[in-house]
Order: sequence, then C-alpha cells, then structure tokens
Amino acid sequence: MWKTFARTAGVIALVAAGSVAAQEFPTRPISIVVPFAAGGPTDTLARLMAQNFQQQLKQTVLVENAAGAGGTIGVDKVARASPDGHTILLMHIGMSTAPALYRKLPFDPLKDFEMIGQVADVPMTLITRATLPVTSLKDLIGYLKANQQKTTLANAGLGAASHLCGLLFMSTVGIDLNTIPYKGTGPAMNDLVGGQVDVLCDQTTNTVQQIKAGKVKAIGATSPARLSQLPDVPTLAEAGLPGFELAVWHGLYAPRNTPKYAVTRLNAALQTLLKDPTFRSRIAEFGAEPVRMELATPQGLRDHLAKEIAKWGPIIRKAGVYAD
Ligand code: ASP
Repeated sequence: MWKTFARTAGVIALVAAGSVAAQEFPTRPISIVVPFAAGGPTDTLARLMAQNFQQQLKQTVLVENAAGAGGTIGVDKVARASPDGHTILLMHIGMSTAPALYRKLPFDPLKDFEMIGQVADVPMTLITRATLPVTSLKDLIGYLKANQQKTTLANAGLGAASHLCGLLFMSTVGIDLNTIPYKGTGPAMNDLVGGQVDVLCDQTTNTVQQIKAGKVKAIGATSPARLSQLPDVPTLAEAGLPGFELAVWHGLYAPRNTPKYAVTRLNAALQTLLKDPTFRSRIAEFGAEPVRMELATPQGLRDHLAKEIAKWGPIIRKAGVYAD
C-alpha cells in the first residue's frame, strides 16, 4: 500500500517536474550549430532563424560555427551535445550524403537526432572567377577539358552541397578537376573573387550578389526554371545539361532523447518563422523558398532524410568518392 502510494507520488512528482520544465523551456541561451564557416549560406540562414527565434522564445539564440570535414564535425558535435533542446543543428542536404561519403561516420543521421522539421530550399549556381576566359557552359566545358590538370574547383569540404554539385558536374561532363576544400562557402568565395580558384558551384545565398556585381561569372543555375534574381542566367539544363537540377534542402535537428516538449516548442517556433514575412522576403532575395508547412514537421524531415539517403547513396557509390 505504502509502496504503491510512494510510487504514484513519485510519478506525479516527475510529471509535474516535466510540465514545469515544459513551460519554462528554454531556460538558458540556445545555440544553433552551423557546421560551416561564418559568412556562408548555412550561416546566413541560421542567423535569420536566430534573430526570429530570439524574439519568439524570449531567450538569447546564438549561432555557433563548428566547421570542418564537409560539415560532419559540427553535426557530430550536436549528436553528442546534452539532449535538452538548448543545442540544435541546422544542416543541409549533406546530412543525407555523409553516410555514403564517409566510411567511418561517427553518427547516424536517422538514429542520433530528434527531427524538428525541414526549413527551406535554396538553389545553386555554377560560377567561375571573373577572369576565366569563358562566357557560357559550352565554353566552360571546352576550357575545362583542355585545362583539366590546372583548373581548380572549390568546395566547402567532402559532404558539402558545393562538393555534391561539383561531383555531379564533373561526372556528367566526364572531367576530373583538382578540388580545393574550404571550411565553408565564405572562405571559398573570397578565394574565387580573388582569382585563387577557378570554379565553384554554390548556393545563391552567396552567389547572386557577386554575380550582379561582376565579381564572378555565372554559367548556369541548378533550378528547374531561371531565377527571377538572375533572369539572364540560363538553367544548367537549358544550357546543355538536361536534368541537372539540385536544390539544397535544410533540416533542423536536436540530439537524440531531447524531451518532446522542447522539440514541440522548437517546431512551433520553426513554423512561425516560415510564415514570417520578413524571413520570407529576406530568403526570397536569393531565390530560396520556405518549405510547405507539412514538411516543417518531425515526420516531414524524417521521411525526406530517409528518402534522400536512399537516393544519394547509389549515386555517390557509383562515383567512387570516399573519405576515411
Ligand atoms: N554552401 C556550403 C556548402 O557547400 C556550406 C556553407 O558554407 O554554408 O555546403
């Protein structure tokens, strides 16, 4: 009798403590981990999110850049973080390509995280340094075939979206360039503008302004239709690579075992962010789109991630690219 009472009281106390925690979450600053350098597309998206979450959650929201190894270092950091909802991860399509690219991946994208929801899709553009003597995709392919050994392709590391785009481009065209890995698009773009590297395929977040300013040359967009921000830039499909489409999707994650109340609260904040006119217009400036609300959910992210892992695995294995 006494035992039953004590057990029941214990359960009630636990539930009460849980609901107090649920009401009080977040109790301290939240850190959004970006697995790439500051100044890049993932960082930009995370900073827009942080500003908005800060107002919604009435807590400081910081962006923490944990760059390296194509984003896998930062992702792993969140997999090992305390599962209390105060450390979360913004990661893109690379979450689905890492399992095929890395022989010894220290985390399992589907098992080691709680899914919060999908965020936004961002197109990419294939660009070159302003001084490369090409003006079209046809020119570029001719130039690359003639200068394969001495041309460099920048990316944000093995597993980055830029790496994936470069990989698809090289295998579609049948060339093999020297790839130069950076810790993110921020530093890669600096070197492309400076003329130290020749080619980059990266999100419009960082490329639109540089293209408009004439600091880099645009060859084509990876979107199904031309981007309204760059009406003179053809899609890569129309320029001569039929079917060459790539959208960089993003997901928001928490470490496995993060309490449901925290995931639910963060998901509500994500849904509010995606409806926010300021956020929508800021990302529209670079041709990005928020996902539909049913995808900005734990199940929407889980289903998409599983589908994307199944899609990219065979493509990457066929390309034969691995990291140890
Ligand atoms: N855009 C980069 C990539 O290629 C990452 C970044 O710096 O956001 O994945």
